[in-house]
Amino acid sequence: MPTPEDKFFHAIVTRRVDFAPDLWMFRIESGGAFPFVPGQYATLGVEIPGGKRIERPYSIVSSPSEDELEFFFELVPEGALTPLLHRLQPGDGLLMRKVPKGKFSLDMQNGRTHHLLISTVTGVAPFVSYVRTLYKDWKEGRFDGTHQLYLLNGASRPWEFGYREELTQFESEVPWFKYVPTVSRPWDHEDWAGEIGRADDILRKYADHWELDASNTIAYLCGHPEMIEHSKAILRRRGFTEKHAVKEEVYWIPPHK
Ligand SMILES: Cc1cc2nc3c(=O)[nH]c(=O)nc-3n(C[C@H](O)[C@H](O)[C@H](O)COP(=O)(O)OP(=O)(O)OC[C@H]3O[C@@H](n4cnc5c(N)ncnc54)[C@H](O)[C@@H]3O)c2cc1C
Repeated sequence: MPTPEDKFFHAIVTRRVDFAPDLWMFRIESGGAFPFVPGQYATLGVEIPGGKRIERPYSIVSSPSEDELEFFFELVPEGALTPLLHRLQPGDGLLMRKVPKGKFSLDMQNGRTHHLLISTVTGVAPFVSYVRTLYKDWKEGRFDGTHQLYLLNGASRPWEFGYREELTQFESEVPWFKYVPTVSRPWDHEDWAGEIGRADDILRKYADHWELDASNTIAYLCGHPEMIEHSKAILRRRGFTEKHAVKEEVYWIPPHK
């Protein structure tokens, strides 16, 4: 019989950055080898009194070459796990399943060389992992820039992006990455000079601008279920009808209306 010790690492939080009262990142030391592919997720958990565990999947922000794992969290105040994770500080422990999961990886094999990445808030996590990984490969001569990544990242407010500075820096340094953050509630932020609207609102405009169509592009949708539904409908109307033309990672199931 496998014991919990066989299945879980006892990971330690090494660093925490709060971007907003309900958005933060952790870096953790997993406590063992955890080989993963950019775009995969880890299952994190916390033990609660009575010997029970609460576990949820979280996309990995870091690149496999980093010596720690990084995650970007949103607090769901009524949720079971995020209020417990939100209390953790550097030095605190949490559980992580020893096996990464998921197939939301960059598909560089099917002939299409444009990758349109669409995300809401924490849904940017797997895309940061793609870009960090390709950036290192580019610098070290393993990636020749023939694949182009175009990232739309939606949030309500400018402070919710978390990785805007890093992604803007990547965009300024490499020819193969474009990044457009967009804010759906720009009021009270007169200094916001960027795009306005939800990620799915600006999808058509940027697909036209970058000349992305179903013949040359794979779309990747990550985060909010409504954004994913709306984006899929828009993409379908633009001819993205083949199964492998659109990949999705839905973060939660919306309650029935
Ligand atoms: C493959 C995958 C990767 C994920 N990666 C991330 C990640 O990188 N970062 C991250 O923060 N979350 C991520 N999630 C979501 C995460 O797994 C949890 O669902 C989320 O953290 C809420 O957990 P909870 O236990 O606090 O809330 P729960 O008790 O699970 O949920 C309570 C209620 O809130 C709803 N809900 C859950 N999440 C949200 C949300 N963000 N906004 C509004 N309502 C919500 C649920 O549908 C439910 O009705 C991912 C989910 C999947 C499937």
